[in-house]
Amino acid sequence: MAYVPVQCSACEAHHLQPVEPGAVPNCRSCGRPATVLPGATYSAADVDLFDRVDAAVRSDLRSARSGQRLAAELLRAASTSESPESILLRMLDDLPGLRFLLPALSVRPTGREHRSLLARSLGMLLTIVAARTRQLERTPTPLDVSA
Ligand SMILES: [Zn+2]
Repeated sequence: MAYVPVQCSACEAHHLQPVEPGAVPNCRSCGRPATVLPGATYSAADVDLFDRVDAAVRSDLRSARSGQRLAAELLRAASTSESPESILLRMLDDLPGLRFLLPALSVRPTGREHRSLLARSLGMLLTIVAARTRQLERTPTPLDVSA
């Protein structure tokens, strides 16, 4: 079964969950109905990766303005031939929590498996940053004022 990113509006969690086509998923954390987010579909093996990318965004992304900038940057980069490696390296300034992906960069030359992992990570990142940004837009934090 395909695993898709979902967002829970009750507890604001993001999860990668198996969802039947046309079905409304229930949040893995609190059990309430969740919304399927736009983006790619993944497999059960990607759940851990998704959770780690989500944890990085949750701890590092503090303002809707940063989120809008990063989402725009990811979208722009995805439309070019820029390598996943260089896109990731630029994201680290704003999202240092993504450093756990760096070991995938240390393999020289970067193998197909690692490139695929990085590409999936960036796809998840765009989905999660966009979703988190919408949450931040609804609940402005004091940091927004000073940003
Ligand atoms: Zn929930």
